[in-house]
Amino acid sequence: MTAPAPIHIIGGGLAGSEAAWQVAAHDVPVVVHEMRPLRSTAAHRTSALAELVCSNSFRSDDAEHNAVGLLHEEMRRLDSLIMRAADANQVPAGSALAVDRDGFSAAITAALEAHPLVTICRDEIAGLPPPDWDNVIVATGPLTSPALAHAITELAGEAALAFFDAIAPIVHRGSIDMSVAWLQSRYDRAGPGGSGADYINCPLSRGEYEAFIDALLAGQKTAFHDWEATPYFDGCLPIEVMAERGRETLRHGPMKPFGLTNPHAAHVKPYAVVQLRQDNRLGTLFNMVGFQTKLTHGEQVRIFRTIPGLERAEFARLGGLHRNTFLNAPKLLEASLRFKAAPRLRFAGQITGCEGYVESAAIGLLAGRFAAAERLRTFLTLPPPTTAHGALLAHITGGHIETIDAGPRSYQPMNINFGLFPPLAKSPTRAADGSRLRGTAKTLARKAAISRRALGDLALWIAGGRPALAAE
Ligand SMILES: Cc1cc2nc3c(=O)[nH]c(=O)nc-3n(C[C@H](O)[C@H](O)[C@H](O)COP(=O)(O)OP(=O)(O)OC[C@H]3O[C@@H](n4cnc5c(N)ncnc54)[C@H](O)[C@@H]3O)c2cc1C
Repeated sequence: MTAPAPIHIIGGGLAGSEAAWQVAAHDVPVVVHEMRPLRSTAAHRTSALAELVCSNSFRSDDAEHNAVGLLHEEMRRLDSLIMRAADANQVPAGSALAVDRDGFSAAITAALEAHPLVTICRDEIAGLPPPDWDNVIVATGPLTSPALAHAITELAGEAALAFFDAIAPIVHRGSIDMSVAWLQSRYDRAGPGGSGADYINCPLSRGEYEAFIDALLAGQKTAFHDWEATPYFDGCLPIEVMAERGRETLRHGPMKPFGLTNPHAAHVKPYAVVQLRQDNRLGTLFNMVGFQTKLTHGEQVRIFRTIPGLERAEFARLGGLHRNTFLNAPKLLEASLRFKAAPRLRFAGQITGCEGYVESAAIGLLAGRFAAAERLRTFLTLPPPTTAHGALLAHITGGHIETIDAGPRSYQPMNINFGLFPPLAKSPTRAADGSRLRGTAKTLARKAAISRRALGDLALWIAGGRPALAAE
């Protein structure tokens, strides 16, 4: 039997390395094209595959109560090389999984170099891949080389790729106090697909607004790296920069109170209003409109919880602004990560708009499996949306709701979080001893139930998915 033609992977980072491992594990040859050390990025320092460019943490390893911990566990069950190397190079970090970065990258490089089906080419793919590469995974990350980024933009249009993110914080809907906030669109306008009550509104009195502006101005901010340059452009200014331009600027911008009536106090006009807009089809997540920020994460939680209605807000994602190359994936990618404009290309990793080492590797894992199945002409179903892999994939390829308001593009990088999972049919209300669950205990029980459901559904998917591939 002749060996299948190779799959080409562009980029040997977290996603590309995991994808290569998965492809080879299905007995398909794979060529990884990594441009380092011939050409580097502004953040990488070595020539190793899967280099960690910043922190050495994979975040929480709690598979029961934390969505990224659950993603770790699912990846382990899917024979992830990234997780194998992370576990083998662990350093003490409490409940987090942190790694010796050099040992971690060296283990991945060695495993791929030693694999008989893996070839590593140290070259930059400086444009669209040659036409005879019929099955390609593009995993070139947030710092994709300019020549390739240019070629992708030419193929899919100007708006296909963003070069900076502008992330507004995202809040779990269930943590917003609706006895203070209310649902209403400005001037009750329904718009296309709206109901006239699409936004959650949080009212501020004059005193609350003034205190909020003071906190923004005094709050600790993160700096840009020198190489990022300051990417501010109108329509995408951080809120603290808007506040620096004048104390009333926000009140005439994202915090304007006009066209809104607070049903909890119809005769009191709010001085300012913070609006939150639905972010995912499930309706579990809402983003704070226009609140992109360079405040540190700790400061965001502290300051945004002073907004009436958000005192107990649980944040699925905090705001930010970074150099980051990523696709408008919900529009451009098929459910199995294939590029609609050129289906021989599949995208993986941070360039798809997932965020973080673990998420990038997980999407690389799926891309590798999809690409191998396609090469072997077998059928691989999508991971169920109740699993962490499925929830993240569904968000990237369509779960996010694109909005048409002016301002920065609404699809922005996303970490895995429980808000991406379909809600449970019935959340646990009682503990094992029959007592009624309340507060944190109730939240933990809900997360544990989502995690149990995820691992159960993953086992079913593995049982249905793997044998079909292995049988070839
Ligand atoms: C400065 C910075 C700090 C970050 N810090 C963290 C953090 O602390 N924690 C976290 O979880 N996430 C962090 N991230 C986000 C992200 O998770 C990582 O960037 C992660 O490495 C993304 O994985 P990836 O495989 O998609 O991309 P990468 O790991 O960046 O891999 C892409 C690879 O493609 C190569 N490449 C690019 N263009 C080409 C080309 N044309 N031809 C051939 N090869 C090419 C690059 O050299 C690179 O090796 C950070 C990102 C940046 C930019």
